[in-house]
Amino acid sequence: MQTTNHVRCPSCNSEDFVTKPNRYDLLEFVAGNFEVVKSEFTEEERRIFCRECGDEINEKTSAENKRVISKVTEQRCAKK
Ligand SMILES: [Zn+2]
Repeated sequence: MQTTNHVRCPSCNSEDFVTKPNRYDLLEFVAGNFEVVKSEFTEEERRIFCRECGDEINEKTSAENKRVISKVTEQRCAKK
């Protein structure tokens, strides 16, 4: 199966995401939405980070654009 880049972290190309750095909640970006693959517990408000580099992901913007967008990428784009 071919993997596409838009489901990967824009910074480090990882396709694993967690709700907090160093936690075991594992998420994948599937068909425009973050799906919890494995979770230790649920939280009302969740934040999503790349499992590898720790960049915070903007879940709303990612869902709107159907690709993984980190807050770092977003700021970089907004400065143009
Ligand atoms: Zn990353």
